[in-house]
Amino acid sequence: MLPKYYEDINHVVHVDTHTTTKCELCDFFVDEGHPIDKFINHYIKHHGYKILYIGPEGHYDCVTMTVAVLGK
Ligand SMILES: [Zn+2]
Repeated sequence: MLPKYYEDINHVVHVDTHTTTKCELCDFFVDEGHPIDKFINHYIKHHGYKILYIGPEGHYDCVTMTVAVLGK
């Protein structure tokens, strides 16, 4: 059984420091800088998502970026 925090999640989005450029749900986009914080704020404030996971995402033994998974 899922913890209550996750019970009503119907859609999940994944954002990261390098590849995320556009919101999945609207026309919001960031094309420069370090957009992950802007996307996290955007998904929370504009679409009502909550953070399910945030942390490093590594490739092999080299940590290359930060990822966040948000759900609603
Ligand atoms: Zn949006």
